Amino acid sequence: MIEVKNLSFEYPTARALDGVSFKVEKGAIAALVGPNGAGKTTLLRNIAALERPYSGTAIVDGMDVRHKPRAVHKRMGFLQDFFGLYDDLSVERCLTYAAMANGLRGGKVRDAVERTLGQIDLKEHRKKPSKHLSRGMRQRLAIGQAIAHEPSVLLLDEPASGLDPDARRELSNLLKDLQAAGITQIVSSHILAELEDYSSEMIIMDGGRVKSHRKVEDMGEGKALSIELAEPNDGLRAWLEARSGIAVHQADDRRAVVSFDGDNTARAQLLKDMLEAGFSVAGISETKRSLADAYFEDVQREGRP
Ligand code: ATP
Repeated sequence: MIEVKNLSFEYPTARALDGVSFKVEKGAIAALVGPNGAGKTTLLRNIAALERPYSGTAIVDGMDVRHKPRAVHKRMGFLQDFFGLYDDLSVERCLTYAAMANGLRGGKVRDAVERTLGQIDLKEHRKKPSKHLSRGMRQRLAIGQAIAHEPSVLLLDEPASGLDPDARRELSNLLKDLQAAGITQIVSSHILAELEDYSSEMIIMDGGRVKSHRKVEDMGEGKALSIELAEPNDGLRAWLEARSGIAVHQADDRRAVVSFDGDNTARAQLLKDMLEAGFSVAGISETKRSLADAYFEDVQREGRP
């Protein structure tokens, strides 16, 4: 479990985190999202006890990161956004090094290397120097280094950047396997569609604060309708907002996602009224609200485009 309590952090020139609080339960995968400069990397570094909070703290597995940073490191894996691998070390030596650096010795190191090679699916490449691996394999090896000591908490900063679709799918499967093994994860990323595949909750940050924190299962609540126009019409949002029984989650001049609890008759009436109002409706269909819909709804609520 990870609990962040009223955490603030300042660089010499600016406050990067301002009273951040949230809790991520054991076995959950929290997507950490937000625009550039929102404070995601700074927050992860504070939770990983690599920076000291100005005030507030984070509790990892019951331990306060300010008071027990070394003990926290033993329970935690951290993949930084710009991770380094020793280019000339083979895959298995990279993992051996990571296991030993985290305090394992003797037979425990060998067991850890074998188990991790299986988890990251690099058994066949165990003798290859890391510099001969593809980008996706290097990413998996870096995650392997972070999990070789069997942490209960894993922090991943932009793990999918630069990966092709196949490598992203593999990464997503790996994170789901780690979740099934009970590891609590926080994953920062800008790729919302992919976070949707494995996240159980989403924390949106902006300007050093938490803007919203929702469970993914709550985001699809209520019937959502996707309304598509054939021709753009910049009056779409205003027209929908003025209609009772509808809550607009997201709208631009071509598409809107709205909550709508009416039956088929009500939906037919909505279509008729829209056509009469001059909207060239190409389709109205039921949809599940995506992380992206929820993200833009929360970000737009504060007036961001
Ligand atoms: P991105 O999505 O671009 O990676 P982020 O959400 O991870 O951004 P941070 O890197 O945590 O954001 O930065 C938060 C704020 O702190 C930004 O205003 C940034 O300019 C500032 N900042 C980050 N690192 C430093 C530093 N070493 N010294 C001073 N200010 C910094």
